[in-house]
Amino acid sequence: MPAKVDMDKIVSLCKRRGLIFPSSEIYGGLASCWDYGPMGVELKRNVRDAWWKSIVHERDDVVGLDTSIMMHPGVWAASGHIDSFTDPLVECKSCHLRWRADAIEGQGCPKCGGELTEPRMFNLMFKTSMGPVEEEASTIYLRPETAQGIFVNFDNVITTSRKKLPLGIAQIGKSFRNEITTGNFIFRTREFEHMELEYFVKPGTDEEWLDYWVKERFDWYVKLGVRKENLRLRQHGKDELAHYARDCYDIEYLFPMGWSELEGIANRGDFDLIQHAKYSGRELSYYDAEAGEKYVPYVIEPSAGVDRSVLAFLIDAYDEEEIEGEKRTVLHLHRSLAPVKVAVLPLSRNEKLTPLAKEIFNKLCPSFVTDYDDSQSIGRRYRRQDEIGTPFCVTIDFESLEDKQVTIRERDSLAQIRVPVGELGKILEAKLKGESFDVSPLWATREK
Ligand SMILES: [Zn+2]
Repeated sequence: MPAKVDMDKIVSLCKRRGLIFPSSEIYGGLASCWDYGPMGVELKRNVRDAWWKSIVHERDDVVGLDTSIMMHPGVWAASGHIDSFTDPLVECKSCHLRWRADAIEGQGCPKCGGELTEPRMFNLMFKTSMGPVEEEASTIYLRPETAQGIFVNFDNVITTSRKKLPLGIAQIGKSFRNEITTGNFIFRTREFEHMELEYFVKPGTDEEWLDYWVKERFDWYVKLGVRKENLRLRQHGKDELAHYARDCYDIEYLFPMGWSELEGIANRGDFDLIQHAKYSGRELSYYDAEAGEKYVPYVIEPSAGVDRSVLAFLIDAYDEEEIEGEKRTVLHLHRSLAPVKVAVLPLSRNEKLTPLAKEIFNKLCPSFVTDYDDSQSIGRRYRRQDEIGTPFCVTIDFESLEDKQVTIRERDSLAQIRVPVGELGKILEAKLKGESFDVSPLWATREK
């Protein structure tokens, strides 16, 4: 089944409407780096917030953390990243393009058919040096995952949080991987934002918790509007498991380039805590008072990308519809993800309409992300809001000045209802929570 939208359309919409721009564009761009524009920054923030809410705030068994990107180099020796976080790299002897040996078919260069070098292992961590002296001892790495910041703080969190196992520690932050090949817009980039949960459990209960988190994470995408038929689960084969993993599932999404990983949920066992205990000399275990025993917990890790989630939400929300003979492009984004919740649109830029429209904007903007737009025709402004996925537009017309009522236009149904200005905030709040709001009693206040 082909995906209904090609990536070019998504990239072009993102550029046109201020969601995502190529990085350093005025200098010709920088490969696989992207900047989030005024609408994109809101969308990305909403994705992050939705994850944090469901993982941290709505549970009493998970706490949050924000650790530094630069860490002691010993961390990466212990975690196995210095030795094992590598991809086999081959180079074409004629055109000098570089490829991941395990990602190409056949013997020759996929571009020109030229002869390839023997594969050599290429470490994906970005190396830099700390302090003013560039020497071996000052070499540090940009973190390739946020997980290790969590493992090295396991003891700090356990002793200060007064929580019992099972206990999760969650973190959102930038990670860096010097991928040999990148692409498909924001799907694979060298700098990206991770949303990771390390959920520590008693050994023996790990398989059960793995199943639990696979389901929990799958449902998260569905609850936020991703269609179930565009999602699937795939268990890793024994030969593709990462060096730390006992078992792993990918939640895959049907991206325009085909089924690809959206999120991985791995059973990391006790690998990380044991390694850090060995390399740091600090004991990292848990005393289970109820069972009266001490053990090294196992850990279940749902690991998602903010950018990759943004891309899946955009693709799944994208639609081109024909409304009364006219084409409209619309993002049916879930209301909690939409960059702008409400647009205040006076029918035209008119000195009589402006004061009431501004008054409404000022009243709404402390509660919802609200946009004010009074330039161009109302039709064009509706189309602009549809393209960024604004769920509700509020239109102020000349009648509004007389009857103190305004029109709410719904993005998906295109239904228009007229409501009293005084009730507007309450009605929008209910609608943005997904509650139905019966406006019929309000009609009694309408004079005609
Ligand atoms: Zn070549």
